[in-house]
Amino acid sequence: MQTHNQAAPGALEVVRRFINTWSIPNQTRVEVDELPLFVSDADKWSEELSRYPRADSDTLDTLMALRTDLRKSCEGLDDDHQLLNAWLTRAALSVKVVPAEGGAPELCVIPADTSYVARILASVADAISSGTWLRLKTCADCRWAFYDNTRNGSKRWCGMTKGGVEGRACGTIAKVSAFRARAAAKKNQITDGS
Ligand SMILES: [Zn+2]
Repeated sequence: MQTHNQAAPGALEVVRRFINTWSIPNQTRVEVDELPLFVSDADKWSEELSRYPRADSDTLDTLMALRTDLRKSCEGLDDDHQLLNAWLTRAALSVKVVPAEGGAPELCVIPADTSYVARILASVADAISSGTWLRLKTCADCRWAFYDNTRNGSKRWCGMTKGGVEGRACGTIAKVSAFRARAAAKKNQITDGS
């Protein structure tokens, strides 16, 4: 299991783990989908996604569809948040006011049932309301979901390092291209005499 030290805060980490059940490991660069195995094997499910048990309604098809749409949202491909809104409507979430630190009231999203899908969506809704959802991103290179802990939220790559003989660090190609472009621009400036 790859962690890369990019864990999201609180329950959002469960969502990140769920999104990363589909991944393209750096060592092989071949996509891997762990969900079918987790759904067919209760022990694996509790080992890998144990925070919320799987209900009968959490079918493989539903889980895959949710994962695809959450990934699209993280990748900025959910126009007008239509996909997320459809899931939130379906999940029929409710909200409750709870005391936060210092006694200030805080909204807490309550799932309608104990299904994995409903709990994941409640965590997503909480993350949107607290402003952390935007920081759950997918690597521009390998598409691994990571939490951007940088101060200005500008991180684009997961930070995976070269894994094997054929592996390469994410962002390497883009960083080398940017370096070459800067070097070429500098050279042109010198040639132009500017
Ligand atoms: Zn990556």
